[in-house]
Parts: sequence; C-alpha cells; structure tokens
Amino acid sequence: MRYISTRGQAPARQFCDILLGGLAPDGGLYLPESYPAVSAADLAAWRALSYADLAFEILSRFIDDIPADDLRALCRKTYTASVYGNTRSGSDAAAITPVTWLEPGRGAGHEGGLGLLELSNGPTLAFKDMAMQLLGNLFEYVLDARGEQLNILGATSGDTGSAAEYAMRGKHGVRVFMLSPHGRMSAFQRAQMYSLQDENIHNIAVKGMFDDAQDIVKAVSNDHAFKAQYKIGAVNSINWGRVAAQIVYYFAGYFAATDSNDQCVDMAVPSGNFGNICAGHIARMMGLPIGRLICATNENDVLDEFFRTGVYRPRSSAETHVTSSPSMDISKASNFERFVFDLVGRDAAVVRALWAQVDAGGSFDLNATPYRARMGEFGFASGSSSHADRLATIRAIRDRYGVVVDTHTADGLKVAAQHRGVAPLLVLETAQAVKFEETLREALGEAPPRPAGFDHLEALPQRCEVMAADLAAVKDFIRQHARD
Ligand SMILES: *Cc1c(COP(=O)(O)O)cnc(C)c1O
Repeated sequence: MRYISTRGQAPARQFCDILLGGLAPDGGLYLPESYPAVSAADLAAWRALSYADLAFEILSRFIDDIPADDLRALCRKTYTASVYGNTRSGSDAAAITPVTWLEPGRGAGHEGGLGLLELSNGPTLAFKDMAMQLLGNLFEYVLDARGEQLNILGATSGDTGSAAEYAMRGKHGVRVFMLSPHGRMSAFQRAQMYSLQDENIHNIAVKGMFDDAQDIVKAVSNDHAFKAQYKIGAVNSINWGRVAAQIVYYFAGYFAATDSNDQCVDMAVPSGNFGNICAGHIARMMGLPIGRLICATNENDVLDEFFRTGVYRPRSSAETHVTSSPSMDISKASNFERFVFDLVGRDAAVVRALWAQVDAGGSFDLNATPYRARMGEFGFASGSSSHADRLATIRAIRDRYGVVVDTHTADGLKVAAQHRGVAPLLVLETAQAVKFEETLREALGEAPPRPAGFDHLEALPQRCEVMAADLAAVKDFIRQHARD
C-alpha cells in the first residue's frame, strides 16, 4: 500500500515512512492510493473477532511494510481490557469499545435504537487514547527497527497532550516535550499530565495562552536545521496512523449495533479537527454499511456550515469561541482536506486550487461546481450545539436514562436527535464527564462520577517546567534533555 499526498506533488511513500512525519512535503496530507474494499465475506468473518484481531485485519489492509505477525502482536499488546478498563459500571471492558444502549431498539438488530459507542475508557478518559496507544507501540517498534530516536514536540490545551504522554511513557527511542498554557487547563487535566514521573516525558507549562504554545511549536518545526538535528517529530491530528487506527472502532460499533451485515447504522460524531469522523468516512468508503455520518459541532460550526451550505470558511483565532466542549474549539479542521480530496474525485489540482484560497486566509464555495451535487453521495449530515444545548442534553440524558455524559458527547447527542431515523444510531462517546467537572456541576448541580483509580489524582506529586513563552528557552530545554 502506497500513500499519496492530497496536493499531488510529493513522492508516494510507505506506511512506516509517513508514520513518523507530519504533512507531506508539498503541504498536503497523506492518504492511501486507494481504499481497500471490504467484501461481504470479510464482514462475515470479522464480526466474530476480538477488537485486537479486528484491528489487525483492518490495519493490515493499510500497512504492508510491517510483517503480519509483528503487526498482530502490536495490536494485541495495545487493545487489552486493562489498558481500556475505565468503563462505566456494567460495561464490558473486554469489548474495548462497548456500547451503552440508552434505547436498545427492537431485537438483536437494535432497529431504531440509540447507543453510546464508548471510546473513552483508555488511560486519559478521551477517545484520543484509541489511536494514540497504538501509535506509541508502533513508534517504539519502528524506531527500534531503524535504530533511531524521536523527540516529539507538541502543544496541548488538554486531551491530545495527555493521550500522547500516556501512550509514549516509558517507550524506548521516544521523548515527549509537551507545551501547555500555564494555569489554563482544568485541575484534573493538569494532574493527569503533570503527575507522570517517567523520565522520557517532559511537561513545559508556558506562561501564556494555548496559541503562544502552538506558535513555539510551529517556529521549531520551521527551523529545519534544529528539527533535523534533534529529530523533532509530532503526533498531531493529521497523523495518518491516528486516522487509520480510528477506522477500527467504526467496524466494531457496526458489529455491536447489528445482527446482520445488510443492516445500516447511523453514526454521530462530535467533531473538531475532522480526524475522528474522517476515519468514519474512510470506513464507509471501504464498504462498511454506514447510512449517515452525522457531524456534530459546538459553537465553532465551520464543519456544520460546510455540510449545510457547501461553503468552507475557516475562522480566525479571534473568531474562535472558547466553549465548554473545548476539544472541539477549532478554527479550521485540519483533516478536512482528506475528505475534500475524495469529494473532488481525488483530483489533486482541484485541492491545490481550493487550498490556495484557504492558505491565503480565505474560504471556498462549492456551489458553482459539480462537487456540490456530489456531496450527498458521502452520507454526511450535520448540526451544531450551544452551551445551553449541552447543559440541557446532559440533564435530559441523566434524567431519562441515568447516564452521565461529557460535554462533547452531549453535543453529539443533541445533533443526533435531529437526525434520528429507523437505523440504529450510535453516538461516539469521546470523553468521560469527569474531565469537564466544572460544566457537569453547572448542568447537574453535583460532581460527575469518577472511575475507580482516579479518586486522588489531583493530590499526586506533579512535575512540570514553568517557562516564559520564549522560543529560545524552549529550544534550550530541548537541547539539554533531548539526548540524555
Ligand atoms: C479531540 C476531541 C474531539 C474532536 O475530535 P476530532 O478528531 O478533532 O474531530 C471531540 N471530543 C473530544 C473529547 C476530543 O478530545
């Protein structure tokens, strides 16, 4: 399987080559040259598999430069009930992504049912763990095989940084330097990251906002000499390995919600950078019978606007709202280009022309193009949700079903309700409520439940370097710690 760039001007590469990199050299995103098709026989055989073995079957269609036995072993090491054991009581950890049925629907095929596909049972209680844990094991494997080292540099406002740290902790060949805005994350999120004592994990709290931290990461990435000398890598949301790993749970969710492979399932996905739902789009392109992919946004409704109007208008950071579903507070959706590449019939020249406008700070409008009419073929529906919707949904779900959901999942449920049909509908549960305790208190008047083992998280000793938002200081820190 070879990977090509959405902008069509970079050489085709193998999976392991793009695993450790970010953007393609032409500024595009990598995608497989073609999507592997799943047959009726595949679906029939895969229905019975464990999550780890399902992951192997799917990923082996995308990865042919890792020997099959090694890839299977990596999947089995990653997807275990103990790594993904932070389930809500009554849920089956062995399923890795169990479904909580709010309304089970009719029969074993769950006709008309409404369920939560639990993706947040991993170590950091957010769906980022689903892909990041695999990435940690893949990075270690590839770096060991090549005798290489990698220093991962990132900026986080919460979920991504902690998922990366828990995935990379203790791995050989990998060090993590994670910048976070000093004093601006929730106490729970701070404790999750800063309590890690592993030597290869470095937390840097920057005195500034998330954007200041992000600017430092961008500046380091643009310093090609420094980047090469210190082997700086990233694990941001455009990483193809993350998207690939996320395809798996669309299949697992499909099997959990149906009893035969001719049924359709609708899936609603709380979306920010379009990484999660992009994996759903690819699963559907492979032939998984997903009826509709419902893209749910918060007040930052760039994606909802696109699916409703055919106009893609990224926002400036000044126009980006700070919301109570913060992991969806994006101004432009970094994975969206992958979908558009498919929408325009994989014509890289068209993608280049559209992104020439986007990269210059503009927008694009597909209404006067043949692509507007084609949007319907891809099964997308969309909607957006506000702070008031979020609070009302969290309360309604608790009152009706006795289930407490997080703010992002609430956005998914709110938008899903507008698109309910006869097929079973799964809302992807992207985080656990405890991560957003403040808003949950506002909605419910009490603290959300904590999974076992997280009781005293905030009381653990913390380790973190506090630093001015200064590029030179961060570079110095990396120089000192990159080659211990
Ligand atoms: C990252 C994240 C999202 C958004 O996912 P994308 O892949 O960026 O669309 C939604 N919910 C939670 C809890 C997240 O951490």
